[in-house]
Amino acid sequence: MTKTAMITGITGQDGGYLAKFLLSKGYHVVGLYRRGATDTFSKLKEHGILDKIEMKDFDLLEFSNICRLIKKYQPDEFYNLAAQSFVAASWSEPIYTAQADGMGVLYILEAIREFSPHTHFYQASTSEMFGKIQEPVQSETTPFYPRSPYGCAKLMAHWLVTNYRESFGLHVSSGILFNHESPMRGKEFVTRKITAHFAEMVTGLTDKVLELGNLNAKRDWGFAGDYVEGMWQMLQQEKSDTYVLATNETHSIREFVEEAGKTAGFEIEWQGEGIHEIGIDKKTEKTIVKVNPEFYRPAEVEVLLGNPAKAEKVLGWRRKVDFAGLARMMVEADIERAHKGTL
Ligand code: NAP
Ligand code: GDP
Repeated sequence: MTKTAMITGITGQDGGYLAKFLLSKGYHVVGLYRRGATDTFSKLKEHGILDKIEMKDFDLLEFSNICRLIKKYQPDEFYNLAAQSFVAASWSEPIYTAQADGMGVLYILEAIREFSPHTHFYQASTSEMFGKIQEPVQSETTPFYPRSPYGCAKLMAHWLVTNYRESFGLHVSSGILFNHESPMRGKEFVTRKITAHFAEMVTGLTDKVLELGNLNAKRDWGFAGDYVEGMWQMLQQEKSDTYVLATNETHSIREFVEEAGKTAGFEIEWQGEGIHEIGIDKKTEKTIVKVNPEFYRPAEVEVLLGNPAKAEKVLGWRRKVDFAGLARMMVEADIERAHKGTL
């Protein structure tokens, strides 16, 4: 029998990769999107799957519509990927972020509890919940210390998922995913900002210097395509649970710039410190990167490093793409887009 999966945030980075993966497994995919969105379906078109998905409009804040959708489809699996997902924006829109990323999840849990308790539910939790890290390597048992309204809202949702599992026996899982990127990553996130800018530079679309914030921050970066498989694996288990997905490697923003620079043909040398730091291309001696404190955050998550041992053991999950492969994939895709005029 064909299984039905509902995906919120279908227009985002992970939504496209997950939908493609579930379609390849024969699922009927119902994609939930915001009617007001401007760049609505570009990622799904690039994946070549838009016509294979049943699209329905949805907003995390519209409880009545959430109830109607869940009552009508009673899906086998529900993946909640929708969120105000950009940490920096959560200080300018903290109330909306809390409503969407915290309360929005409660609306879905309530609708599942009431109208479709057999549904297996996935919540997109985040390593941002570890924030000011309480252990050098973070796992499912590491205490949380969020550092942004985004992290706080996601933590509320994570605990609600845990509570609904324990209170009502629902099959609801929380995936604590460390940063995962891809050519489909939004350009506001640092990796894609770097790769898109370098692609513009090498194809002559810009001669502007790339301006970045804190180059010392470190992230555990994986490939989104690997991570969506872990989401699915969580919902195939007999019991729901919490799992960390990560690469167990951490790299600074500076290292990502260097790695992406290699594929773009730059050999970057760093000069100066703090807000005066610049990155120079050794071959041309041009400054290509500089620090702009405008991109600093009110409270920073300095370093994240995840331990995916539980997911590897219980789910059999493995990430396939490494740090260098990820940076290369992103720069190559952006250079190709720049040539085609679709960057
Ligand atoms: P993304 O590309 O920013 O996608 C977010 C999606 O949520 C978009 O489809 C967006 O729709 C939708 N959305 C935002 N507000 C909404 C609302 N009020 N109602 C309905 N839909 C709304 O994020 P992503 O990278 O795919 O991440 C997927 C999920 O994983 C997010 O919940 C994110 O917080 C979480 N997460 C991501 C990472 C990561 O490194 N990527 C790590 C841990 C957790 P529009 O297209 O209309 O804006
Ligand atoms: P996040 O880990 O979900 O906040 O993902 P981002 O890609 O937005 O940010 C990752 C890290 O890069 C954070 O520590 C930021 O402070 C740092 N960073 C440095 N410069 C920039 C920048 O220009 N844009 C963004 N988005 N982040 C930057």
